[in-house]
Amino acid sequence: RFITVEGPDGAGKSTILKELYGMLIEEGFEVVQTREPGGVSIAEQIREVILNKDNTAMDIRTEALLYAAARRQHLVEVVIPALEKGSIVICDRFIDSSLAYQGNGRGIGMTEVMNINQFAIEDKMPDLTLYFDISPEEGLKRIARHDGREVNRLDLESLDFHQKVYKGYQTLIKQYPDRIKVVDASKSKEEVFEQAYDIVKRFVG
Ligand code: C5P
Repeated sequence: RFITVEGPDGAGKSTILKELYGMLIEEGFEVVQTREPGGVSIAEQIREVILNKDNTAMDIRTEALLYAAARRQHLVEVVIPALEKGSIVICDRFIDSSLAYQGNGRGIGMTEVMNINQFAIEDKMPDLTLYFDISPEEGLKRIARHDGREVNRLDLESLDFHQKVYKGYQTLIKQYPDRIKVVDASKSKEEVFEQAYDIVKRFVG
Protein backbone atom coordinates (compact mmCIF):
# COMPACT_ATOMS: atom_id res chain seq x y z
CA ARG A 1 0.00 0.00 0.00
CA PHE A 2 1.43 3.20 -1.30
CA ILE A 3 0.45 6.34 0.61
CA THR A 4 1.54 9.84 -0.37
CA VAL A 5 1.26 13.08 1.56
CA GLU A 6 0.67 16.37 -0.22
CA GLY A 7 -0.09 20.00 0.43
CA PRO A 8 1.03 23.58 -0.09
CA ASP A 9 4.11 24.98 1.67
CA GLY A 10 3.48 25.61 5.35
CA ALA A 11 0.79 22.95 5.72
CA GLY A 12 2.84 21.18 8.40
CA LYS A 13 2.73 17.79 6.74
CA SER A 14 6.30 16.74 7.63
CA THR A 15 5.66 17.10 11.38
CA ILE A 16 2.45 15.08 11.26
CA LEU A 17 4.10 12.50 9.01
CA LYS A 18 6.77 11.79 11.60
CA GLU A 19 4.10 11.20 14.29
CA LEU A 20 2.02 9.07 11.97
CA TYR A 21 5.01 6.89 11.17
CA GLY A 22 5.85 6.47 14.86
CA MET A 23 2.27 5.49 15.69
CA LEU A 24 2.01 2.89 12.92
CA ILE A 25 5.37 1.35 13.88
CA GLU A 26 4.22 1.19 17.50
CA GLU A 27 1.13 -0.70 16.35
CA GLY A 28 3.33 -3.25 14.60
CA PHE A 29 2.95 -2.22 10.97
CA GLU A 30 5.88 -2.55 8.57
CA VAL A 31 6.28 1.05 7.39
CA VAL A 32 8.83 2.80 5.21
CA GLN A 33 8.75 6.59 5.48
CA THR A 34 10.42 8.43 2.63
CA ARG A 35 10.45 11.65 0.65
CA GLU A 36 11.63 12.56 -2.81
CA PRO A 37 14.53 12.35 -3.65
CA GLY A 38 14.82 10.10 -0.59
CA GLY A 39 18.56 9.84 -0.19
CA VAL A 40 18.86 7.99 -3.49
CA SER A 41 22.17 9.14 -4.98
CA ILE A 42 21.07 9.56 -8.61
CA ALA A 43 17.87 11.32 -7.58
CA GLU A 44 19.81 13.56 -5.15
CA GLN A 45 22.16 14.58 -7.96
CA ILE A 46 19.20 15.47 -10.18
CA ARG A 47 17.64 17.45 -7.30
CA GLU A 48 20.90 19.43 -6.91
CA VAL A 49 20.62 20.53 -10.54
CA ILE A 50 17.03 21.67 -9.93
CA LEU A 51 17.86 23.60 -6.75
CA ASN A 52 21.20 25.10 -7.89
CA LYS A 53 20.59 28.87 -7.90
CA ASP A 54 23.34 29.31 -10.53
CA ASN A 55 21.12 27.49 -13.03
CA THR A 56 19.24 30.68 -13.82
CA ALA A 57 18.56 29.47 -17.37
CA MET A 58 16.50 26.54 -16.07
CA ASP A 59 13.51 26.15 -18.36
CA ILE A 60 10.24 25.22 -16.63
CA ARG A 61 9.77 22.10 -18.77
CA THR A 62 13.36 21.04 -18.07
CA GLU A 63 12.56 21.46 -14.38
CA ALA A 64 9.43 19.31 -14.74
CA LEU A 65 11.39 16.60 -16.58
CA LEU A 66 14.09 16.59 -13.91
CA TYR A 67 11.50 16.23 -11.13
CA ALA A 68 9.95 13.33 -13.07
CA ALA A 69 13.38 11.71 -13.56
CA ALA A 70 14.25 12.01 -9.85
CA ARG A 71 10.81 10.62 -9.02
CA ARG A 72 11.34 7.57 -11.21
CA GLN A 73 14.72 6.76 -9.69
CA HIS A 74 13.38 7.03 -6.14
CA LEU A 75 10.34 4.94 -7.12
CA VAL A 76 12.46 2.17 -8.61
CA GLU A 77 15.14 2.16 -5.89
CA VAL A 78 13.04 2.71 -2.77
CA VAL A 79 9.27 2.61 -3.18
CA ILE A 80 8.72 -0.45 -5.37
CA PRO A 81 11.16 -2.75 -3.47
CA ALA A 82 9.51 -1.78 -0.15
CA LEU A 83 6.01 -2.39 -1.53
CA GLU A 84 7.13 -5.75 -2.88
CA LYS A 85 8.33 -6.68 0.61
CA GLY A 86 4.80 -5.93 1.84
CA SER A 87 5.62 -2.68 3.65
CA ILE A 88 3.35 0.31 3.81
CA VAL A 89 5.19 3.15 2.08
CA ILE A 90 4.46 6.72 3.18
CA CYS A 91 6.03 9.22 0.80
CA ASP A 92 6.22 12.99 1.45
CA ARG A 93 5.24 14.47 -1.95
CA PHE A 94 4.87 12.59 -5.23
CA ILE A 95 3.18 13.12 -8.61
CA ASP A 96 0.50 15.52 -7.31
CA SER A 97 3.25 17.99 -6.29
CA SER A 98 4.44 18.13 -9.88
CA LEU A 99 0.91 18.50 -11.20
CA ALA A 100 0.20 21.36 -8.75
CA TYR A 101 3.64 23.11 -8.69
CA GLN A 102 4.94 22.63 -12.23
CA GLY A 103 1.58 22.03 -13.94
CA ASN A 104 -0.50 24.82 -12.44
CA GLY A 105 2.01 26.91 -10.45
CA ARG A 106 4.51 27.30 -13.28
CA GLY A 107 1.75 27.16 -15.87
CA ILE A 108 2.91 24.23 -18.00
CA GLY A 109 -0.54 22.67 -17.73
CA MET A 110 -1.55 19.72 -15.61
CA THR A 111 -2.23 17.38 -18.55
CA GLU A 112 1.23 18.00 -20.01
CA VAL A 113 2.90 17.33 -16.68
CA MET A 114 0.73 14.25 -16.18
CA ASN A 115 1.96 12.86 -19.51
CA ILE A 116 5.66 13.03 -18.67
CA ASN A 117 4.98 11.67 -15.19
CA GLN A 118 3.01 8.75 -16.56
CA PHE A 119 6.10 7.89 -18.56
CA ALA A 120 8.17 8.12 -15.37
CA ILE A 121 5.95 6.16 -13.00
CA GLU A 122 4.22 3.85 -15.52
CA ASP A 123 1.08 2.78 -13.61
CA LYS A 124 2.43 3.23 -10.08
CA MET A 125 -0.05 5.75 -8.72
CA PRO A 126 -0.51 6.11 -4.95
CA ASP A 127 -3.31 4.03 -3.41
CA LEU A 128 -4.10 6.80 -0.93
CA THR A 129 -3.10 10.46 -0.76
CA LEU A 130 -3.49 12.65 2.31
CA TYR A 131 -3.91 16.23 1.27
CA PHE A 132 -3.09 18.79 3.98
CA ASP A 133 -5.34 21.70 3.19
CA ILE A 134 -4.21 25.20 4.16
CA SER A 135 -4.83 28.49 2.34
CA PRO A 136 -1.72 29.97 0.67
CA GLU A 137 -2.01 33.05 2.91
CA GLU A 138 -2.09 31.00 6.11
CA GLY A 139 0.70 28.72 4.82
CA LEU A 140 3.01 31.71 4.20
CA LYS A 141 2.18 33.18 7.62
CA ARG A 142 3.10 29.88 9.24
CA ILE A 143 6.44 29.69 7.42
CA ALA A 144 7.28 33.28 8.43
CA ARG A 145 6.26 32.57 12.04
CA HIS A 146 8.36 29.42 11.99
CA ASP A 147 11.35 31.49 10.77
CA GLY A 148 10.65 34.03 13.54
CA ARG A 149 9.81 36.94 11.24
CA GLU A 150 6.95 38.90 9.64
CA VAL A 151 5.51 38.08 6.21
CA ASN A 152 7.72 40.09 3.83
CA ARG A 153 7.60 41.49 0.29
CA LEU A 154 9.21 38.37 -1.19
CA ASP A 155 6.55 36.19 0.43
CA LEU A 156 3.83 38.35 -1.07
CA GLU A 157 5.44 38.18 -4.52
CA SER A 158 5.35 34.42 -4.30
CA LEU A 159 1.72 34.48 -3.11
CA ASP A 160 0.48 34.49 -6.70
CA PHE A 161 2.50 31.34 -7.44
CA HIS A 162 1.25 29.62 -4.30
CA GLN A 163 -2.33 30.54 -5.13
CA LYS A 164 -1.91 28.77 -8.45
CA VAL A 165 -0.40 25.74 -6.70
CA TYR A 166 -3.39 25.73 -4.33
CA LYS A 167 -5.85 25.86 -7.25
CA GLY A 168 -3.96 22.97 -8.84
CA TYR A 169 -4.48 20.86 -5.73
CA GLN A 170 -8.20 21.78 -5.67
CA THR A 171 -8.51 20.49 -9.24
CA LEU A 172 -6.78 17.23 -8.28
CA ILE A 173 -9.11 16.69 -5.30
CA LYS A 174 -12.10 16.91 -7.65
CA GLN A 175 -10.39 14.69 -10.21
CA TYR A 176 -9.41 11.90 -7.80
CA PRO A 177 -12.04 11.91 -5.02
CA ASP A 178 -11.46 8.23 -4.19
CA ARG A 179 -7.69 8.51 -3.85
CA ILE A 180 -7.20 11.97 -2.33
CA LYS A 181 -8.50 12.53 1.21
CA VAL A 182 -8.52 16.06 2.60
CA VAL A 183 -7.19 16.90 6.06
CA ASP A 184 -8.04 20.34 7.44
CA ALA A 185 -4.50 21.52 8.23
CA SER A 186 -5.63 24.87 9.66
CA LYS A 187 -6.56 23.11 12.91
CA SER A 188 -4.26 22.47 15.90
CA LYS A 189 -1.43 19.95 15.54
CA GLU A 190 -3.33 17.43 17.66
CA GLU A 191 -6.51 17.75 15.61
CA VAL A 192 -4.63 17.50 12.31
CA PHE A 193 -2.88 14.37 13.54
CA GLU A 194 -6.22 12.82 14.60
CA GLN A 195 -7.75 13.45 11.17
CA ALA A 196 -4.72 12.02 9.34
CA TYR A 197 -4.49 9.01 11.66
CA ASP A 198 -8.21 8.17 11.24
CA ILE A 199 -7.93 8.19 7.46
CA VAL A 200 -4.79 6.04 7.41
CA LYS A 201 -6.15 3.61 10.00
CA ARG A 202 -9.35 3.10 8.02
CA PHE A 203 -7.21 2.42 4.96
CA VAL A 204 -4.66 -0.02 6.43
CA GLY A 205 -7.18 -1.71 8.74
O1 C5P B 1 7.33 21.17 1.61
P1 C5P B 1 8.54 20.44 1.12
O2 C5P B 1 9.75 20.63 1.95
O3 C5P B 1 8.22 19.01 0.84
O4 C5P B 1 8.84 21.05 -0.33
C1 C5P B 1 10.02 21.62 -0.74
C2 C5P B 1 9.81 22.64 -1.86
O5 C5P B 1 10.05 22.05 -3.14
C3 C5P B 1 8.41 23.20 -1.92
O6 C5P B 1 8.39 24.43 -1.30
C4 C5P B 1 8.14 23.42 -3.38
O7 C5P B 1 8.28 24.78 -3.68
C5 C5P B 1 9.23 22.68 -4.11
N1 C5P B 1 8.69 21.65 -5.02
C6 C5P B 1 8.37 22.01 -6.32
N2 C5P B 1 7.91 21.06 -7.18
C7 C5P B 1 7.75 19.78 -6.78
C8 C5P B 1 8.06 19.42 -5.47
C9 C5P B 1 8.53 20.38 -4.60
O8 C5P B 1 8.50 23.16 -6.71
N3 C5P B 1 7.31 18.89 -7.66
